This record gives sequence, structure tokens and C-alpha cells, in this order.
Amino acid sequence: MSEDQRVALVTGGCGGIGSAVCKRLAADGFRITTNYRSEEKASKWLQEMEDLGFSAAVYKADVRDFNECQQMVSDIEKDLGRIDVIVNNAGITRDTTLRKMEKSQWDDVMDTNLDSVFNVVRPALNGMLERGFGRIVNIASINGQKGQLGQTNYCAAKAGMHGFTKALAQEVAYKGVTVNTVSPGYIATDMVMAVPEAIREKIIKQIPVGRLGRPEEIAAAVAYLVSDEAAFVTGSDLSINGGQHMS
Ligand code: NAP
Repeated sequence: MSEDQRVALVTGGCGGIGSAVCKRLAADGFRITTNYRSEEKASKWLQEMEDLGFSAAVYKADVRDFNECQQMVSDIEKDLGRIDVIVNNAGITRDTTLRKMEKSQWDDVMDTNLDSVFNVVRPALNGMLERGFGRIVNIASINGQKGQLGQTNYCAAKAGMHGFTKALAQEVAYKGVTVNTVSPGYIATDMVMAVPEAIREKIIKQIPVGRLGRPEEIAAAVAYLVSDEAAFVTGSDLSINGGQHMS
């Protein structure tokens, strides 16, 4: 890699949206890294990136674990010299109404979707500030903006991500580091395609554009937010939901 090639860490890069973001940023010239938990998924992802002609690197880390994230950041900085871009994309759902929600379902979602943002950004932030450039993009959700029955844990975590975005954006703007949220609506990833077709059709009826979003459409927005052209965009929450919710 060349000395001035920017390095992007996309968490959950082996998943539906994460994978599209990785491919897009790699095509835009970034050196791509992601974390993994399963060796099998990581080697499949590496092969896919290699087949597309991109060089990429993977690091084993669970985003719920601060020490593992700290180690991952330090390994990336040692191997690749820096981290210029972080896309906090790893996320899960554990849906049920609050009346039935177990503490473990609450904790899993908060730890994976929200604590992870602290765990990954905190160890990488000083490097960005020292270099005077950084781009942080938090992948939240339409449901963090509007609420959704059966998702108190997920909606709280996703809304929390945007609170983090707005606070950190104010702290680091003077050093060339921007922090933004992207809030996708329903995107045609495996997660959404696994929903029974009849329910999916009902969801699509609520989307003015008349279809599910594509992972590449989220990736395109991330590509803009991490570019030099987006230097004046910080603390924003970009809705990409086909008009399903207008905030
Ligand atoms: P996905 O395909 O399930 O991908 C999620 C990724 O996160 C996977 O690579 C997964 O890795 C990783 N991950 C989960 N828990 C982790 C942990 N503890 N440590 C490390 N990695 C972990 O989901 P997706 O649909 O692409 O969603 C990506 C993001 O977009 C999520 O934050 C989601 O909430 C958000 N979003 C999605 C939609 C949608 O319609 N799809 C809509 C709004 C927002 P493993 O394979 O190891 O589990």
C-alpha cells in the first residue's frame, strides 16, 4: 500500500450492508479492514475482496469487548500505519416487546450496537486528531428515529448512536474529524429477505419509493461522508429510507 493510502475500518464488514460499504470504499481507493468473529466468514470475505482486485485485511475482534477492540486498533495501526475512517456498522436485533424482554436481550443489543461505538472509536480517535483528519460514520436505523414496536432495545441503541455522533462531532470538528450518522430504512440484506414474503410486501407498501433499499445505496452515502468533499458535513443524520420516514 502507498504511504498516503487512507485506511478504513468497517465493523461487521462481512455482513450485508458492511460488505457493500467495504467494496465501495475499496473501489474509491481506501485500504479496507474489518473485524470478524467467524474464521469461515472472514476467509470467504477476503477471497471475495481479492477476486475483485482489492487488498484487504481482517482482525479478530468482538465489538462488545473493549480490550479486543483496543487490540484490533493497535494491530491495524501497527500493520497499516493508521486508521482514517471508521464505519460503525456491526449490529444485531433481539426483538420482543418490553414486557417479555430478558435482561440479556437488552444487554446484547446495547453492547453490540452502542457500546461498540465507544469501544472502536475511543482507541482510534487520538490518532485521527494527531493527523488532523478523520471520518466516523455510525450506521443507525430508521427505527432509532421513529421507534418501532418490539424494538425498545434496538431503538434506544440506534438513537443513542446519533446522540454520540452529535456530541463527538462538536468535540473534534476543529481537528478535521467529522462524525455522522446514516439511518437506513429497510434494505434488501439477508436479514430482511428472511422475513416472510407477505410481511415484506406489507413493509414495501409503507415505502413511497415502492421497494426495499439496496446495500449499495447505503454504501454510496457512506462513500460521500468519508470523502474530502464532505468536510463541512458533521453531526448530521442522513435518512436513506425511500421516504418511509421523514424527520
Ligand atoms: P448483517 O448482515 O447481519 O451484518 C451484521 C454484521 O455485524 C455481521 O458481519 C456480524 O458478524 C457483525 N456483528 C454482529 N455482532 C458483532 C459483534 N459482537 N462483534 C463483531 N461483529 C459483529 O446486518 P446488515 O443488515 O448488513 O446490517 C448492518 C447494520 O445496518 C446494522 O447495524 C443494522 O442494525 C443496520 N441496519 C440494517 C437495516 C437493514 O434493513 N438491513 C436497516 C437499518 C439499519 P457475524 O457474522 O460474526 O455475526
